[in-house]
Amino acid sequence: MLTVQEGRFLKEFEKLGEIGWVPGKGMDRPAYSASYNEAREYLHTLMNDAGMETRIDGVGNLFGRYDGKEKGAKSFLVGSHLDAVPGGGKYDGALGILAGIEVSRRIREERGPLRHPLEVVAFTAEEGGPLGGTFGSRAFTGLVSRDVPNDILSSFGLSHEVIEKSRGKKEDYLAYLELHIEQGPILWRRNIAIGIPTGIVGITRYKIDICGQANHAGTTPMEERRDAMRSASLLLARWFTWVEQRLREKNDFVCNVGVFSLFPGGAPIVPEKASFILELRSLRDEVVDKVAKTFRSFLEEMPSCRGSMELMVEKPAVELDRNLISAIEIAAQKRGFSHQLIPSGASHDASPMAHFVPTGMIFVPSIEGVSHSKEEATAPKDIICGANTLLETLLELDGKD
Ligand SMILES: [Zn+2]
Repeated sequence: MLTVQEGRFLKEFEKLGEIGWVPGKGMDRPAYSASYNEAREYLHTLMNDAGMETRIDGVGNLFGRYDGKEKGAKSFLVGSHLDAVPGGGKYDGALGILAGIEVSRRIREERGPLRHPLEVVAFTAEEGGPLGGTFGSRAFTGLVSRDVPNDILSSFGLSHEVIEKSRGKKEDYLAYLELHIEQGPILWRRNIAIGIPTGIVGITRYKIDICGQANHAGTTPMEERRDAMRSASLLLARWFTWVEQRLREKNDFVCNVGVFSLFPGGAPIVPEKASFILELRSLRDEVVDKVAKTFRSFLEEMPSCRGSMELMVEKPAVELDRNLISAIEIAAQKRGFSHQLIPSGASHDASPMAHFVPTGMIFVPSIEGVSHSKEEATAPKDIICGANTLLETLLELDGKD
C-alpha cells in the first residue's frame, strides 16, 4: 500500500515550522511579512525539486503542479494556508500544504502521473487582518468584494486588477481537498484518527451599542443612573442563561463576546456607552437568524438604556461535497483508520473554495483541542494518518468518474 515517506515528511514539517518561530512566543508568520516570504520560498524550492511546474499569482498564492495522463482532464487542487496567527502554532495551515506536496510527490515517485493533473496550493492571508480572512482563496475564487478600499490594498502592494488576475478558472478543477488540524477537542477526546467535516459553520457578527448617560459616579443616586455597563452586564447574563438552557435541548450553535468597550471609560464616571461584538456560529443559517432575534428581543426589553444591534459580518454556513465526504470515508476505511463525521467550527480556505468547486476536508486531532496557540500540536502518527488518508482519497477519486 502506497504511503507517505514519514521521515522526509516530518523533517520538512519541522523545517517549515522553524521559519518565523519565536521561542517562548510561538509563530510570527503573518502574510506578506519577511518570514512569510521565506517560508513560501522554502515551499517553492520543495516543489521545484519535486519536478512540479510552479507559479505565484498576483496576490501571493503559490501553486505547484503535475500534469495528468489524460488530456483535458480537470485538476485536483490540494492545500491550505501558509500564514499564521500571531503567537500561533506550526500546524494550522502548514500541515495541509506540506501533506499536499508529499502526497503528490509519493504518487508521482511510485505510480507516475495520475489521470488528472494534481496541483498543490499554499494560500495567503487566511488568518484575517486588514484584508479580511481567507483572502488568498477568496481572490482565487473571485469572492473579494470590490468595496475593499484601494489604500488598504496598496499598503500590501495589491490592487483590484491584481486580485482579478489571480482568479482561477472554475472549469479547470475537479475538486479541492484540504487536510487541516481540527482546532477543537472532539477527535482528541474520542481518540479518533480522522475527522470528516460535513460542513463549515457560518459566522455572523453584530455590533451592539448600549447607550445610557454619563454622570458622576459618586453623587448620582444609584436608582437614577442610566448605567450602560450595568445594563450590558444584565443583558449578557440574561442572554448566556438563555443560551445554556437552549443548548441543553439543541446543541446547534456557539456564541462569543470577545470585544467589549466602555465609554468614556473612567473609574469615577458612570459609563455612557457599552459596545461589544456578539459572534454567532452555526452549521445552519436559520438557527443564527432565530437566536439573533432572541438577542434582539432581550436588547429591546432592557430598562433604562437604549440598545442598537448592527450586522457587521455575515458569512453563510457551507456544506461540503457529499461525494468527497464518502470518498474520504472509503479512504479512511481502506487504511483502517478510525474516523467520524464532524462539523467544522472554524472557517477555512475550504469555505470560499466550496462555492467554487466540490470541496472536502480531512481533520486530524489537535492535542487537548488547542489551536491558535504556541502549544498547538498534533501527534506525528496522526499527521501521518491524515496525509495517508489524503493520498488514498486522491487515488480513490482518480480511479472514478
Ligand atoms: Zn487554518
